[in-house]
Amino acid sequence: MSWYTINSNRGKPLLVVDNYIHRIDRNNGNNEYYKCIDNCGGRAILRSQTTAIISKIHHHPTHGAELARRGFRETLKEKVVSNPTKSVPQNFHEVRRSLVSSGIKGCTTSEVEDAVPVYTSVRSSSYRKRMKLVPKLPTKLSELILENEWRSTNDRKDFLLGNYFFMTNLRPFLDHGPLLKYKT
Ligand SMILES: [Zn+2]
Repeated sequence: MSWYTINSNRGKPLLVVDNYIHRIDRNNGNNEYYKCIDNCGGRAILRSQTTAIISKIHHHPTHGAELARRGFRETLKEKVVSNPTKSVPQNFHEVRRSLVSSGIKGCTTSEVEDAVPVYTSVRSSSYRKRMKLVPKLPTKLSELILENEWRSTNDRKDFLLGNYFFMTNLRPFLDHGPLLKYKT
């Protein structure tokens, strides 16, 4: 039987066996006992973290559609976190394109296609994730520290974005500041 673990939205481990998702029920030494996330009576056992079996059958189709939905959201989250300078819609469209062409583990093509959320349903959570990674606007000059990707264009040239007020007021400092370079 094929099995792997994933994390629930609350960070709890879930056991996936043959595309059925289970949550932990109890453990006993080397064995962990799991039950179906839908409480259908289906159960699974993970032995010594090496083999997993379904010990009681499920009375419904697999959780392929659910796995596809989770897979999409997880991939989008990782993408936003690793590319915070990219726009949220752009990250969304790239994830959609790549998952529809490469698929999600344990899911059929139609399950993946059906799992693609409408953009508006993931927009606010993606923006919240991104907000945490984007530097805050400084209130004093000493807080004005921009590093790495915030200071270069995609082809790695020095770059600093500023409005007229920012540039005219800060230019004297920027000329002599060790932290910043800018292009005119
Ligand atoms: Zn079940």
